[in-house]
Amino acid sequence: MKEKNETIFRSGYVAIVGKPNVGKSTLMNTFLDQKLSIVSPRPQTTRNRVLGIANDENYQMIFLDTPGMMDPRYELQQVMLKTTEETLKEADIILCMIDAGGTSPLDETVFKKVMKSSRPKFLAINKIDLVQKKSLLPMIDTLNKNLDFEAIIPISALKKDGCEDLFKNLLEKLPEGDPLYPQDAITDEPERFFVAEIIRETIFIQYGEEIPYATAVRIEKFQERPDQKDYILAIIYIERDSQKAILIGKKGRAIKKLGQSSREQIENFLDRPIFLDLQVRTKKKWRKKPSIIKGLGY
Ligand code: GDP
Ligand code: MG
Repeated sequence: MKEKNETIFRSGYVAIVGKPNVGKSTLMNTFLDQKLSIVSPRPQTTRNRVLGIANDENYQMIFLDTPGMMDPRYELQQVMLKTTEETLKEADIILCMIDAGGTSPLDETVFKKVMKSSRPKFLAINKIDLVQKKSLLPMIDTLNKNLDFEAIIPISALKKDGCEDLFKNLLEKLPEGDPLYPQDAITDEPERFFVAEIIRETIFIQYGEEIPYATAVRIEKFQERPDQKDYILAIIYIERDSQKAILIGKKGRAIKKLGQSSREQIENFLDRPIFLDLQVRTKKKWRKKPSIIKGLGY
């Protein structure tokens, strides 16, 4: 006789929330075994909610990677915070993340928001590869006393430690139901979104200071051409002419380097060769202007 629970299909949304830089995007990529969300050592790399789907015979777990929660200082950050708060409402399960190095007032703000939800909530303590194991028990104890999580699970998203256990815990709480997306889909965003994100990630890696934060990338053309490589025109928006000069660099060297390494990674992602055209435009104070922010897809 067939066991009853063998035939149950589970599907639903898991929102990954937490302050910037705790490893939300890294964890989603680990769960999906694919690099979907961009990651950088600097906070506030993720600006949109990025959806990633883990498919299996018996489940479809849909992860929502969110921008980090923070005290918004400019319009773009306000939009990022709103995205996160809306994502919390959509979710069937909330996965909150903190850093094993310790909690801060910002984590408390996140806890407060998360605890308002009636959905099952889990807490992942990430980056345990960076701390002594013995520091974890007292930390888990204190958190358990003060907060109402289904479970608190120590992990290293980077070293893929504890992630399977966490996944199993999430799966147990996933609602029963039919798949919500095609079962071969990994995301709901079109290729051009990821192409823009890869360029943005490369900017985060290549340039210092305020440049990455003052930058937005829009794919203006994405043409498939018979017997030729795909043509992609990406516009990089920046806030000041002085930043534009830095982006381009002496004799165009910096932008050339950016183009080369972005192209390699885009080709890797798309699994086909492309021709990448990068152009830089100044849009004064775009981060403070709601209409521009919207036009750029945030
Ligand atoms: P997010 O802002 O929460 O999405 O964080 P990211 O996923 O972009 O990660 C921020 C930084 O922390 C990156 O440099 C990651 O490589 C690093 N990171 C993420 N998870 C771990 C981990 O488990 N261990 C260590 N040592 N670093 C991690
Ligand atoms: Mg992120």
